[in-house]
Amino acid sequence: MGIAISPQIHPQVADFIDKPRKMLINGKWQNAVSGKTFPTYNPATGEVLAQVAEGDRDDIDQAVRAARKAFDQGPWHRMTPSERGRLLWKLADLLEQHTEEFGYLESLDNGKPLAVAKAADVPLAVDLFRYMAGWATKIEGNTLPISVPYTPGAKYLAYTLREPVGVVGQIIPWNFPLLMAAWKLGPALATGCTVVLKPAEQTPLSALRLGELVQEAGFPDGVVNVVPGYGETAGAALAAHPDVDKIAFTGSTEVGKLIVHAAAGNLKKVSLELGGKSPNVVFKDADLDTAIPGSASAIFFNHGQCCCAGSRLYVERSVYERVIEGVAEEARKIKVGSGLEPDTQMGPLVSEEQLRRVCGYLEAGLSEGAQAVVGGQKAGSKGYFVEPTVLVNTNEKMKVVKEEIFGPVVTAMPFDNPEEILPRANDSEYGLAAAVWTRDISKAHQLAANLRAGTVWINCYNIFDAAMPFGGYKQSGWGREMGHDVLNLYTQTKAVCAKLA
Ligand code: NAP
Ligand code: MG
Repeated sequence: MGIAISPQIHPQVADFIDKPRKMLINGKWQNAVSGKTFPTYNPATGEVLAQVAEGDRDDIDQAVRAARKAFDQGPWHRMTPSERGRLLWKLADLLEQHTEEFGYLESLDNGKPLAVAKAADVPLAVDLFRYMAGWATKIEGNTLPISVPYTPGAKYLAYTLREPVGVVGQIIPWNFPLLMAAWKLGPALATGCTVVLKPAEQTPLSALRLGELVQEAGFPDGVVNVVPGYGETAGAALAAHPDVDKIAFTGSTEVGKLIVHAAAGNLKKVSLELGGKSPNVVFKDADLDTAIPGSASAIFFNHGQCCCAGSRLYVERSVYERVIEGVAEEARKIKVGSGLEPDTQMGPLVSEEQLRRVCGYLEAGLSEGAQAVVGGQKAGSKGYFVEPTVLVNTNEKMKVVKEEIFGPVVTAMPFDNPEEILPRANDSEYGLAAAVWTRDISKAHQLAANLRAGTVWINCYNIFDAAMPFGGYKQSGWGREMGHDVLNLYTQTKAVCAKLA
């Protein structure tokens, strides 16, 4: 079954996608209770890549029960922080040993270039697990010097414990399937939580393979459960489940709001990493030799399917023409093709639905008067390819400037002075990221302080590290992933107060 396996495909990957993939519940690989499966597609060809067990309410229920048992009674809750850290480190080692294989899985399922998956997605996931492994032994409470006014003379020992929040539901998107699984699993496991993970329907394969490595690393049964399925069924059941203590979600702002509603039933804790429409600001005093390719990669990296993509390009008027022409030239040079071709720099969008969405935005922009300096349409006759696109003659009233396109489309606008740019850059319901290109360090840091965004890059873009917190202001989300900030999302504080005799 599946696509004809080209000889280029890594043999273990060919083997992996050749069989219908099961779900991981309580340490066992099993079919869906309903017996149903769903297809995942190769976006470079539109053909079915593999069949995957379709989890639903009943499977989510089983997985939550397994995670609850593992949290309350299993060997996991008796393990020392050091043992948890070592398991995470082992998982990182295993993943690193399988870099090639995961690169192929990501490229086939998501469409991204193999070279990018191997250079970015897999190493970033490995590093995240190692970073979080280190935290397992460093999650500390405080001792509190208290002075209770109504018990004069009494002495107390007061302290806090940082405890794992419990059973965590995690719902992830398709743009960085493995890396998003790592961002979610790493902190949950470092803090001692147990997990039910639902990957995106478009890209379930790497999370399922990671589930095998979780077992190989030796995590006890039920600590990590992976239930693929659709958002409206499996995802919704997980978000609403009364025995889930916390839900962590990455995806669209629209679904983020549904998650909040679903979580209200038992008031589970919620963290959200949502959409963006990030401003990328180039000043005339920038080093244009780095700002131009940097601004191109800000939008075209991962085919623009990044929540933090630099999709609103603002350029100071005196260098506007030069920067736009430079970014357009970068776009023209991008080799678009199947992710498995060695010279491919941009693959297809993830799905036909996404292709339709992005093309819909292109049509809307062009009909509202925007002009494509380069690109502007679908590319190729099969697969879900779109030309890297630079739109000019745009303004803040246009749909293409206001809404997240999630494709390789940047809207460019000139500005006249530094005072004007801050309100324009902040004029968005989103606040995930922003960038500033300038040689003037005062200007750069003043803007960094005033931009309403969770991440500000100065003279760079798309720099991620496990130590750097990531998340959104405004409607781009709640909470921060990565860094030590993320530990707050997966722990809760208990205050203990003992009266000393
Ligand atoms: P999405 O629907 O928000 O999907 C994200 C995750 O949520 C997937 O696992 C999805 O499952 C699940 N989901 C969907 N509906 C759900 C529900 N009612 N309850 C619980 N879980 C649910 O995103 P999308 O439809 O794939 O993409 C649409 C747009 O979202 C994109 O064009 C882009 O603008 C934005 N997006 C943002 C990010 C980001 O990183 N911030 C990532 C992806 C997409 P299914 O896979 O089955 O739908
Ligand atoms: Mg969806």
